Amino acid sequence: MDLRNTPVTAVTGVGEKRAEELEQLGIRTVEDLLTYFPYRYDDYRLVDLTSAEHEERVTVRGKLLTIPSIRWYGGKKSRISAKLDVDGLAVQVVWFNQAYLKSKLQIGQSLMVSGKWDRHRLQITADRTFFSSAEQEKQAGRLMPVYSISGGIKVAWLRKTIHQAFLQFGRHIEEVLPTEIREQYRLMDRAQAMYRLHFPRSREEGSRARRRMAYEELFLYELKLLHWRRQTRERVKGIAHEFDTGQVKQLIEGLPFSLTGAQQRVVREILDDMRSPEQMHRLLQGDVGSGKTVIAAIALYANYLSGCQGALMVPTEILAEQHLQSLRKILEPHGVRLALLTGSLTTKERREVLSELQMGLADVVVGTHALIQEPVMFHRLGLVITDEQHRFGVKQRARFREKGEAPDVLHMTATPIPRTLAITVYGDMDVSVIDEMPAGRQPVDTYWVKSDVWPRVVQFIAKECRNHHQAYVICPLIDESEKLDLQNAQAVYEELTQSLAPVRVGLLHGKMSPAEKEEVMRRFAANDIQVLVSTTVVEVGVNVPNATVMVVYDADRFGLAQLHQLRGRVGRGGGAATCILVADPKTETGVERMRIMTETTDGFEIAQRDLELRGPGDFFGVKQSGLPDFRVADVVEDAKILEIARTDAIRLITSSDFWQRKEWSPLHRYLRSLDEEGQVNFD
Ligand code: ADP
Ligand code: MG
Repeated sequence: MDLRNTPVTAVTGVGEKRAEELEQLGIRTVEDLLTYFPYRYDDYRLVDLTSAEHEERVTVRGKLLTIPSIRWYGGKKSRISAKLDVDGLAVQVVWFNQAYLKSKLQIGQSLMVSGKWDRHRLQITADRTFFSSAEQEKQAGRLMPVYSISGGIKVAWLRKTIHQAFLQFGRHIEEVLPTEIREQYRLMDRAQAMYRLHFPRSREEGSRARRRMAYEELFLYELKLLHWRRQTRERVKGIAHEFDTGQVKQLIEGLPFSLTGAQQRVVREILDDMRSPEQMHRLLQGDVGSGKTVIAAIALYANYLSGCQGALMVPTEILAEQHLQSLRKILEPHGVRLALLTGSLTTKERREVLSELQMGLADVVVGTHALIQEPVMFHRLGLVITDEQHRFGVKQRARFREKGEAPDVLHMTATPIPRTLAITVYGDMDVSVIDEMPAGRQPVDTYWVKSDVWPRVVQFIAKECRNHHQAYVICPLIDESEKLDLQNAQAVYEELTQSLAPVRVGLLHGKMSPAEKEEVMRRFAANDIQVLVSTTVVEVGVNVPNATVMVVYDADRFGLAQLHQLRGRVGRGGGAATCILVADPKTETGVERMRIMTETTDGFEIAQRDLELRGPGDFFGVKQSGLPDFRVADVVEDAKILEIARTDAIRLITSSDFWQRKEWSPLHRYLRSLDEEGQVNFD
């Protein structure tokens, strides 16, 4: 019997109407019901009040000492109160809006009540009351599961129904984890873990059950990912690039600097991938300024030497132009012909570029979305690189991959992704990390100041401008209060224009057209504008080495990752640079964020702490994060389990007899059922 195919109506007490309501909760099958786990438990175990915490839920038993009094107020609202003798302690018990209890409560009666404990007033606000000793026995000492519900479903009904489902179908729950793994980590068996996650006899038992289910979930997820990846690799024929390593070395030796150790390692990893007949699918992570562009240039050169064309895709036109310039400097002396393809080319220019690409007259094309939106035909596309890939949707990435035979793909990102997220969200890719900055790069001095010292911040900007440097002033723009924020930015812009004159100040905001934005950005890059006030972080992804000051206004309204990105915009010229965070945070996390920023400039550390502060869901911001929806596991809390599960999954699936081992047949069946579903979707 396969519980995944058994409709939930098979459970006694679940009719058509209930089934519809359960469907609202995502429950269609018996398996869905059995794995609809509680998000917390109500604790009905008797406690000793002398050691209970203030505001904690407590359950106590005692005798009523006084005649309960009832008070009515506001028409329908009521409050009953009485004294209860709990182990010699006279506790005030209060029942709100439970007037029906008045007639049941009698002096001298034995009661068990559960509710919130007020330690200072020796008072319990009761929400559950148990009268008969049978009822008391049944509840006392239990942890009651609490489920998220909606519509007509009630928690008590759900509890009962899940219990019923276990009675009917518990023995059909099949173990999926190999015995050796279960024994190695002393994991509960599946049926027991599922049952005890709903109905634990102790906190400890509940957490052991949770651990088992979290392991299973992460293990199966990793297995699925690896299986899918192996299959695509077998199906897709990649290009085995052939190039002269000596020539690549020459290019590297001709650079005005020598590569950092991390860059050398990453180059090796990428070139090895390119030589291999498998399609490369690699994520390159490196903090802002760690030197990813030169890596792209080297890969594009090797690709050129093997007779292929390459494409570099970036999010904005100005970035495309900057990258084109940097690549030209490195590649043109070696005979590589470059082209630019953006949305603002004239029809004639575009047609020309397109035909150059089709005929193989251009070797490398740098472009924006235009590269994937148009019917670009390549003579022979061998390598695709995207920069700041998180700004391209997952679908767009896939579409780009389809062009050409099966070009190698390299995604570059300056957003450090904590490892636990990297191996879940990007588990289908290999990951390279540049974890070292070029020598001589000074960390940006970072200060957190309160808004009342703003005049001094302005003085500081003025001083830097006198020294011929440039500055960014970022004002947050957050949707709900867009208007207000715009006024803010406008006001800051006007104030600075006045107080900094004759220094030229520019304003960049989200309401401007792309062309207007590019124009302002261009003027800033050309030092035609010295101070740039911007409401948006998107457009500042540009290299202006002369900018040495980054001021972020209301900095507590930005996430850590964003602040780190912003800070990375300055200090790119090699000299000293300063980041000033102006903020009066009102929350603990706000203060914590400011503190973290002043404590470290390590992008990975910041990302990890951001993840801990915000949780995985918010880390990427949008839903397109690709983060799987785990039922039990939590990629932050269960990071260790995830690592272990991944290692185990790799070991199993790469063992030569994986498909022969009889005891692994539940896993085989699981993977085959995924194959039947067709394309496994991870997005
Ligand atoms: P990012 O990783 O943010 O894209 P870039 O590729 O723009 O960084 O590099 C930032 C700056 O550092 C560029 O001016 C680049 O020429 C320089 N750079 C890159 N690698 C090195 C190195 N190994 N030594 C010194 N400077 C380097
Ligand atoms: Mg870059």
